[in-house]
Amino acid sequence: MNQIDVIFSDAANSRATDIHIDPVMDGYQIRYRIDGKLRLNRNLKKSAGISLINQIKAAAGIEPGTAFLPKDERIKLSISGRSLDLRITLVPCISGPKIAIRLLDPNNVIREIPQLGLQPEDRTALEEWTRSLNGMILVTGPTSSGKTTTLYSLLYEIAEESRHVVTVEDPVEYEIDGINQIQVDNRHNLDFAEGVKTALRLDPDCVMVGEIRAHDAAFEAVNAAVQGHVVMATLHSRDMVSAVTRLRNYDIENHQITTALGVVVNQRLVRKLCDHCRKKGEVTESTKTFFESNRVSIPETLFLPVGCEHCANSGYFGRTGIFEIWNLDVSDYELILANQDEKAIRNKLKNDNHTFILHDAAKKLADGTTSFDEIKVLGLDLPWTTGRASP
Ligand SMILES: [Zn+2]
Repeated sequence: MNQIDVIFSDAANSRATDIHIDPVMDGYQIRYRIDGKLRLNRNLKKSAGISLINQIKAAAGIEPGTAFLPKDERIKLSISGRSLDLRITLVPCISGPKIAIRLLDPNNVIREIPQLGLQPEDRTALEEWTRSLNGMILVTGPTSSGKTTTLYSLLYEIAEESRHVVTVEDPVEYEIDGINQIQVDNRHNLDFAEGVKTALRLDPDCVMVGEIRAHDAAFEAVNAAVQGHVVMATLHSRDMVSAVTRLRNYDIENHQITTALGVVVNQRLVRKLCDHCRKKGEVTESTKTFFESNRVSIPETLFLPVGCEHCANSGYFGRTGIFEIWNLDVSDYELILANQDEKAIRNKLKNDNHTFILHDAAKKLADGTTSFDEIKVLGLDLPWTTGRASP
């Protein structure tokens, strides 16, 4: 095996999603991103690092003479009988060229709904939506919170021969057989909004919008839903209720929101504790304070990471989502039409005993799925306790 094969197959076997090859003081450093965190894999002497970068450039068809321009290439490589889809970004830095490689393995991303890590009632809510296809579904959360994985699992569930599904994505991460995927291309004025308009001309049953991040895309997506199309989209918002604020900020009228919106999913990704080595820990004062101040019951048990051979001493293995799902009903629509703010809507849901993302987090702490450290860093304190408005 040559050097590329060794590193790429090692990365794929280590469950890495990205490989970073960085120039450092006395050579090159190779790091893998595993479960969302970078880990040092090995150091190379300068000559070995340069030789590796040249091999990767050759494999990606990047001409040797263009070292001063950033490059982005997508290639397929067959390594040890395994087909890898790679997105390679080469950037010249002061200290030398740097390469970042994203390993796109459809087997890692396309999950069925039961594999997402939903509590039974949340899973039922999503499965009900895939049967009724009632109203637009918005999957919300910050970058890298697993939104695309959730959307793809919904697509996977609803894509069938009798349905015409069109997606508008940037980038198209995974090609799905039987679905028409449109790549956003801003250089040719094909943005998300234009993509949705194009998709609608193709007579679709269902349109998936990779991301609503401006008024125009929000307007076109809501419009498609109002016209009776099944619309699925992601949106950046801090929690499920603030999705309404976000749509209002994009100048979508309350009556359009209530006509279009069916379900909002809000989610984050956390690392899962390695079940070979995790150990029971104390429920600390800071944990108690955290849950009490957010009006969520304190978990009775907690588990801590340890580290063993199985998890490469990290204490964690794999990731899962934590969720809150809001299936809007008539009383929610009344509040939106009455222009009530998100705080009022949240309080109403609280009074209905609706579960919020921290309830799911508390359950996943108590059963040892994840650790309090993983939850703490997400900054999930609920806005009704602080009175803070959504950004
Ligand atoms: Zn372990």
